Amino acid sequence: MLDILLNLQVRAPIKFSLIAVNLDQKQPGFPEEVLPNYLRSRGVDFHIENQDTYAIVKRLIPEGKTTCSLCSRLRRGILYRVAGELGATKIALGHHRDDMVTTLFLNMFFGSRLKGMPPKLVSDDGRNVVIRPLAYVKEPDLVRWAEHREFPIIPCNLCGSQENLQRVQVKAMINEWEKRYPGRIDNIFTAMGNIVPSHMMDKKLFPFETMKATGVADAGGDIAFDDDESCATPSPASVITLQR
Ligand code: SF4
Repeated sequence: MLDILLNLQVRAPIKFSLIAVNLDQKQPGFPEEVLPNYLRSRGVDFHIENQDTYAIVKRLIPEGKTTCSLCSRLRRGILYRVAGELGATKIALGHHRDDMVTTLFLNMFFGSRLKGMPPKLVSDDGRNVVIRPLAYVKEPDLVRWAEHREFPIIPCNLCGSQENLQRVQVKAMINEWEKRYPGRIDNIFTAMGNIVPSHMMDKKLFPFETMKATGVADAGGDIAFDDDESCATPSPASVITLQR
């Protein structure tokens, strides 16, 4: 992300400054010199925030339980605070397309809601604008770019809780789909920006309870059968009912 933002800084029609921030959570084996050395070599302003969140989650979360929710809450608070101290007006995070699709399924499977991860939104403390400049970039493209540019890679399993993460399992699921049906991740991602509230079931998004027939044809109305089912014989459940 930093590499791309540095490029954009030269080419974009807007002016912005950058400061790279890394939170050293004191996970065992974290190679603390790798990022500062790299950032220095690129001549980038940076700030390393040292906070032992690892010790906090280890103390508070029982062994064997997933530590991510507390860990990410701590990290979020620290990031917001540091952004304020540095005078930043935007917090850019490195999530990519595949992260956003994975989040959609995680929220669906474990939270019973259709909620993804937005490319731009005000943070939950109301004080920061969070942006995700890589939102439209596929993970495999980023992997190839990272190899090509020989970025220093820091392992992401130092906290020890990665393996059992539901995120890892959901990611494996969508990658398997992609292998069998190329283009599926892109289709899901496109669908996230193409929502039809009248064809979902959320009463907060569409006035199902008060709507009435208008007598005027509307292409956005119900077509009775989905396109790929339009040749099917109506089932008994689709018989017209009259309301008196
Ligand atoms: S994977 Fe590890 S570092 Fe990442 S949020 Fe979970 S506990 Fe924290």
